[in-house]
Amino acid sequence: NDALATVDPEVAAAVGAELGRQQNTLEMIASENFAPQAVLQAQGSVLTNKYAEGYPGKRYYGGCEHVDVVEQLAIDRVKDLFGATYANVQPHSGAQANAAAMFALLKPGDTIMGLDLAHGGHLTHGMRINFSGKLYNVVPYHVSDDDHRVDMDEVARLARENKPQLIVAGWSAYPRQLDFKRFREIADEVGAYLMVDMAHFAGLVAAGLHPSPVPHAHVVTTTTHKTLGGPRGGVILSSDEEFTKKFNSAVFPGQQGGPLEHVIAGKAVAFKIAAGEEFKDRQRRTVEGAQILAERLLAADAAEAGVSLVSGGTDVHLVLVDLRNSELDGKQAEDRLHEIGITVNRNAVPNDPRPPMVTSGLRIGTPALATRGFGKEEFTEVAEVIAQALKPNFDESISAELRTRVEALAAKHPLYPNL
Ligand code: PLP
Repeated sequence: NDALATVDPEVAAAVGAELGRQQNTLEMIASENFAPQAVLQAQGSVLTNKYAEGYPGKRYYGGCEHVDVVEQLAIDRVKDLFGATYANVQPHSGAQANAAAMFALLKPGDTIMGLDLAHGGHLTHGMRINFSGKLYNVVPYHVSDDDHRVDMDEVARLARENKPQLIVAGWSAYPRQLDFKRFREIADEVGAYLMVDMAHFAGLVAAGLHPSPVPHAHVVTTTTHKTLGGPRGGVILSSDEEFTKKFNSAVFPGQQGGPLEHVIAGKAVAFKIAAGEEFKDRQRRTVEGAQILAERLLAADAAEAGVSLVSGGTDVHLVLVDLRNSELDGKQAEDRLHEIGITVNRNAVPNDPRPPMVTSGLRIGTPALATRGFGKEEFTEVAEVIAQALKPNFDESISAELRTRVEALAAKHPLYPNL
């Protein structure tokens, strides 16, 4: 009954191997998670066959009565989850949610401000060869040299000097919380819109473990597959009725054609799960795990190995390891953890002397392991394994020992046992 294996054994084999990789290694890429089986099932459903250009109740195709139910559920649930009065669940990805939000609020040539990519911002916040850098005049802001926090005085100064039409607050690699209220005050002072991209920390917001940007921003965008733990995709939220029509037409027909209703079904399921107590506990373990990791990597023996943390700790689901004083660069450290079965990504640290393909840092996140069931005890063990792996005396026997410890952790919390 395995249609995929029958029709296409090569693709089936790669999918099977990927399942094995996810089950047998420890996933610590901060932007990844494991979608629940119910979400996978929704995504693998016949909804993939349906064209539904338009919005629930106002479609350009017949036969939309059932996908209308699904999309309306997703809209209502995500509005409830985040306390917004408007939601668009159609963006195919976080990048498309951002593109549509900007498309709605800006014209080409307008000025935007975003956190510099090299300081933790995202490509869509103004990177030179991204649509955002090509269409708009970009004024990046930065983290300060001393505490690695976003320098709000610089944000205010640059806003006054450059009079942007839009300020983006949000990040892909930043271990702290942002001051949304201050961002909004600055935006109001210069007559800019405030857009918060909460892609990374949306799950923490949903669980009440992180301040919500919704009351402060003109528009909030997010992905649904990071801390939120749903299918890959994007969402636009707002509580400003003034913009709702603009956002809808910016997504369709502005940026996209037919929505992916099978993915929207997965989003609806994920939002239902995110409203529950179990999800809150998972987000609590996510943050606790990052704090355990931070504490371990700030210990004296880690410092001796040249390991430290950007900003000296974390308030969220990730740590940014600073390897500038280590014998390892980011690429070597990523490879070393890969060798023992832990997947992370190398990442630039602020003012990184090395090129982006090498870097002097690691971004390590806890959402996927928390989804797997990890708690205090398991995160303490993972933190110890990582600290040992980043030491200079690493050799074949230490590698083998650490790999065994990783395998034991993976076996303790089996992933997708029914797949
Ligand atoms: N926004 C932020 C802050 C992100 O970190 C990411 C992805 O890494 C995105 C947007 C883009 O999401 P996607 O990869 O779904 O386009």
